[in-house]
Amino acid sequence: MSTIILDGRAPAQELRAELRADIAVFTEQYTHPPQLAVVQVQGDAASDRYVRSIRKICNTTGMAFHLAQLPTDTTQATLEQSLRQLSADPAVHGVLLQMPLPAPLSAEQAVLHLDYRKDVDGIHPISAGLLAQGRSTLVPNTPAGGMELLHHYGITLEGKRAAMVGRSAIVGRPMAALLLLANATVTLCHSRTLDLGAVLRECEIVAVAAGRPGLVTGDMLRPGAVVIDFGINVQDDGSITGDVDFAGAAEVAGAITPVPGGTGPVTNVMLLRSVLTAARNQEAARHS
Ligand code: NDP
Repeated sequence: MSTIILDGRAPAQELRAELRADIAVFTEQYTHPPQLAVVQVQGDAASDRYVRSIRKICNTTGMAFHLAQLPTDTTQATLEQSLRQLSADPAVHGVLLQMPLPAPLSAEQAVLHLDYRKDVDGIHPISAGLLAQGRSTLVPNTPAGGMELLHHYGITLEGKRAAMVGRSAIVGRPMAALLLLANATVTLCHSRTLDLGAVLRECEIVAVAAGRPGLVTGDMLRPGAVVIDFGINVQDDGSITGDVDFAGAAEVAGAITPVPGGTGPVTNVMLLRSVLTAARNQEAARHS
């Protein structure tokens, strides 16, 4: 059986082109571009790289970008004030709170100061609650990218058995909710799941976000299963590996994402799409 490699780079390129066109239409209609503001507390090199990549994709698609950089010793009150200010600024349509935050700052507390209508990574409890109820909302970008990849490769979900390994608020739980919305029958697995392999072998779709390199091996998969690996684990030599043992899994799976080059490239594009959606909603409400 030949395994389909779910390459994220080609769809990301197509989606960027679509976004560029949609942003141009928005800008002409409202005489200003949609704007993303990123709030970043300094001091994390990986976060710096991510912010640079977001700035670049904003520049190439015509979206306005604002970076609110706060010093490492920022207080919780200053961080929350920054989120409130950006939430109240009509020129800003989307606000991304960049993780991780240095201790003792609390992201959970900070996010409560963000207007959920500008919560373009779907982390506010109102966004999460709406998604859990199957209602329209802004969705976390990583699982949105996973769903986009499945859609791009024509993988249908209705009636399929799907497992999500990992139950974080930013990847696992929203991905499980999105799979359910697509009418899959969903099992949400975690570190206390007994016999993970027995659960996964039942499933036609397996998505993984555990932060454990090589957690899912080929013998845990049903032949022909579709495997979405969200894992990003930096090895000692600096290389990146996923949560799935790619070589072993690819011998059994029908389709599988590589790491890197699978879900990753689609994630940033989903962020910009989310900002555009938020901007359209806000401008439509303002002009109605
Ligand atoms: P978290 O640490 O918040 O959550 C990990 C989840 O995995 C938990 O629910 C945990 O279970 C579960 N888990 C851990 N060990 C096992 C195990 N042995 N068996 C089954 N489940 C297990 O991680 P994140 O969700 O933030 O990130 C997960 C991975 O996804 C990381 O590699 C991260 O780098 C990557 N990631 C990728 C993104 C992307 O854009 N592609 C964005 C964000 C993250 P329990 O709840 O019981 O502790």
